Amino acid sequence: MSHRLRQIRKTLARLYPNAQCALIHDNPLQLLIATILSAQCTDARVNLVTPALFARFRTAAEFAQAPIEEIEELIQSTGFYRNKARNIQECCQLLVERHGGQVPATLEALTALPGVGRKTANVVLGNVFDTPGITVDTHVGRLSRRLGLTVHQDPVKVEHDLMQLIPRKDWTQFSHQMILHGRAICHARKPLCSQCELARWCPKVGVAAAAADANTTTTTLVRPAQTSRVNRPGRTQSESRTVPTQRPRRAKRKSTEADASSP
Ligand code: SF4
Repeated sequence: MSHRLRQIRKTLARLYPNAQCALIHDNPLQLLIATILSAQCTDARVNLVTPALFARFRTAAEFAQAPIEEIEELIQSTGFYRNKARNIQECCQLLVERHGGQVPATLEALTALPGVGRKTANVVLGNVFDTPGITVDTHVGRLSRRLGLTVHQDPVKVEHDLMQLIPRKDWTQFSHQMILHGRAICHARKPLCSQCELARWCPKVGVAAAAADANTTTTTLVRPAQTSRVNRPGRTQSESRTVPTQRPRRAKRKSTEADASSP
């Protein structure tokens, strides 16, 4: 492992020592369903929806037999609710048919379920079965590219690149730390590089282009975007952002880019 990567990992571990899955759950089934709901939705929003959902349906069999409209109504605010409700129900039907209502503990069995890709499977494996997995969501993909850990856009290729770089035992924790840093500092449109403790080790791949794009978009769209967001019924500004489970600690010194060149 390169000195640069060691420093990145060390810094993330110091900033987010207790990073963990932000989706609230009590058992593997709840985490599986919460992760399906988190597609194109913030974890904070999912956590608002799941208490009522899990109070109403407690087992895979109950989800499998539920009127689909009832699931849809309970998850509506997470977006794409018809697809998600169908996936949840078909997933639970297969859990009942093939796995006795239990969530399987292998990547192969999990990814064979409707609505369950590698990302969802790795979240479940890493957080309830202690099987390390790299979770490549939008934050992990973006940070990995900016940090020069991968050149790929395809989440599966990013996952494989990270699997080569990070020791297996740390896959799950590294994913959580990257997700938290992406939410708190390395934002998609305007990363806070001047406040980032990884800046010294980060080549900032593609950041200038993202900033230029953000400025152009802001100049063109700022008025209508602000108006529609404020007036949108049923959603507050804070809900549109994902709240990290842990804030990064403050920087002790200013970062430089001097050490960010090697992979
Ligand atoms: S220095 Fe900038 S691009 Fe690199 S990780 Fe930090 S916020 Fe992201």
